[in-house]
Amino acid sequence: MTDAIGELLPPDRLMLTPGPSSVHPRIYRAMSTTMVGHLDPWFLNMMMNEVQVLLRQVFRTENRTTFPISSSGSGGIEASMLNPLEEGDEALICVNGAFSQRMAEIAERTPAKVTRVTAPYGRAVDPDDLRRAGKGKKIKVIGATHGESSTSVASPLDEYRKVADELGALLVVDCVSTLAGMPIQVDKQRIDICFSGSQKALSAPPGLSPITVSAKAEEVIRNRKTKVQSWYFDLTTTMNYWGKERTYHHTPAIPLLYGFREALRMVVEEGLEARWERHRLNQRAFLAGVEGLGLKPFVENPADRMITVTAIHVPEKVDPKRVQDQLLGEFNIEIAGGFGPLKGKIWRVGLMGHTSQRRNVLLLLGALENVLVSQGYRAANGAGVAGAIRVYSEAGAGVVGAAR
Ligand SMILES: *Cc1c(COP(=O)(O)O)cnc(C)c1O
Repeated sequence: MTDAIGELLPPDRLMLTPGPSSVHPRIYRAMSTTMVGHLDPWFLNMMMNEVQVLLRQVFRTENRTTFPISSSGSGGIEASMLNPLEEGDEALICVNGAFSQRMAEIAERTPAKVTRVTAPYGRAVDPDDLRRAGKGKKIKVIGATHGESSTSVASPLDEYRKVADELGALLVVDCVSTLAGMPIQVDKQRIDICFSGSQKALSAPPGLSPITVSAKAEEVIRNRKTKVQSWYFDLTTTMNYWGKERTYHHTPAIPLLYGFREALRMVVEEGLEARWERHRLNQRAFLAGVEGLGLKPFVENPADRMITVTAIHVPEKVDPKRVQDQLLGEFNIEIAGGFGPLKGKIWRVGLMGHTSQRRNVLLLLGALENVLVSQGYRAANGAGVAGAIRVYSEAGAGVVGAAR
């Protein structure tokens, strides 16, 4: 049996999806170092004095409660909905795509009364709709998704904060696909609970959901009348492991945390501003290339676009799945399709973290043109790559968009 099943040798893909994104070799190296116990003084010191310190810098926060939850990004949604909400509470959830819908579904499993405030796919929820939905009500939580990666729409968080202030609500934000790729500043933007995922713009492997909780939200959670429904995601107890008490709660994924630490170190080393700028430039170049190829971005208003994920319309007479299969089979490049109501209608390209590089943008545009040409979409003229090169030359790049 073991003869038939060979050694594990995964293909070396370029992962240009909305996650997971390709992992930097430094992160693999960190993950293959020696295991220790989760209560080992060396490990506790590393986690509390290094990982938490770095994570606060990446979130731009001084929140005491800032740590990685042992779960994928969806666990961050669970934790941020289950902890503040209990019987008698009301929440407004902004829904404009698959991930914000997931947030609403999770909130609806709590005993709280949940109202979905919706926008069509491709648009952000209008802050005035949110305002109207909360008028005259006692709202405890407003939930929103910063980057709705199913459509590539970014939400106006500062506007939502204003509404949350007017209603006296906590603002809870899913920044799974944006943290460390698109500006988010937890303290400055006064986000009460903010969480992310390790495998997106942080470029670490999946399995961790970093979260940060404001002092105000922490107080709300500590003053609950009833216990949090989930034992695993109960922040009142996990906070004790990550806080001064350091009492055992569950065994964290130690090698993942090693990799996560290195990922955070790389973000801080590059600098958040420089990193945001790198993502901005590479997306701008990609969009110029998309236009050059005669394709259209799914999100019409540039102000509503995410930086880390870009959705584009599948042109007529082109088989979207075949394009993806060819990119993977012939070029080792993975991009994503649409899902739910957008299945077969869009492609989604992630240029996040380690993958947001000039060489990847040019490679993808060249490969995409080649594949489209092979499906009879158009004659080859290199206009995709040319569009991107124009943006890079104008930006004087070679510097910001380049490989690290
Ligand atoms: C990817 C993603 C999630 C889900 O994360 P998982 O790690 O797959 O659980 C949630 N929200 C957004 C915005 C995402 O992009």
